[in-house]
Amino acid sequence: MDFLPDDLQHYVETHTVGENELLKKINRETYSQVLMPRMLSGHVQGRFLSMVSKMLQPKNILEIGTYTGYSALCLAEGLQANGKLITMDINEELESRVRNYFEKSDFKHQIDYRIGDAQKIIPELKIMFDLVFIDADKESYSAYFDLVIDKIPSGGIILADNVLWSGKVVQPKPDKDTRAIIEFNDKVQDDTRLENLLLPLRDGIMMMRKR
Ligand code: SAH
Ligand code: CA
Repeated sequence: MDFLPDDLQHYVETHTVGENELLKKINRETYSQVLMPRMLSGHVQGRFLSMVSKMLQPKNILEIGTYTGYSALCLAEGLQANGKLITMDINEELESRVRNYFEKSDFKHQIDYRIGDAQKIIPELKIMFDLVFIDADKESYSAYFDLVIDKIPSGGIILADNVLWSGKVVQPKPDKDTRAIIEFNDKVQDDTRLENLLLPLRDGIMMMRKR
């Protein structure tokens, strides 16, 4: 699934600051060694996550859906010196690979990586998050939103990835995941607690700012 024509994508990539060596390595190894590598955020989206984080300078970040750790390391770039990022994934098969990547990063002491079901882990977290990235199973997006909304201060940002779902949100006969995304997008649009922007970057990122 390509989101832009190759030549335009190339132009965008060559006019976006590069990834560091560790991110390049994770990108490369995910494509050569891991199932479903297209789930990785990648160069341009990764720089977007980094940019948002650096603008916000969050104390705490929550990420739902670690996969190979690429987006977590991008988000961590904007953390305050004493800040932390909690990221979680249900897939224990990736655990040793991901711990190894985090161990190599500048943020190893700031990243709290947990294995388990996000719907069980999030209710146990008793801190506030200035930035949340929702990127796990699409069926649970609405549930994740409900679980995090009261853990975000006024001015806090939630980002939810893949909200265009390869364009399927506007196709007839949506499947189960597509229906879940459509319901999520509608729910966000109707929620007066936030200002939202559906940014058509890559597969679509819903940006939400709590009023
Ligand atoms: N954020 C990553 C990609 C995440 S892919 C990046 O941008 O590079 C989605 C991940 O969500 C997968 O690794 C999958 O194992 C995880 N996931 C699916 N269901 C989950 C659940 N219930 N709890 C936590 N993680 C889940
Ligand atoms: Ca994603």
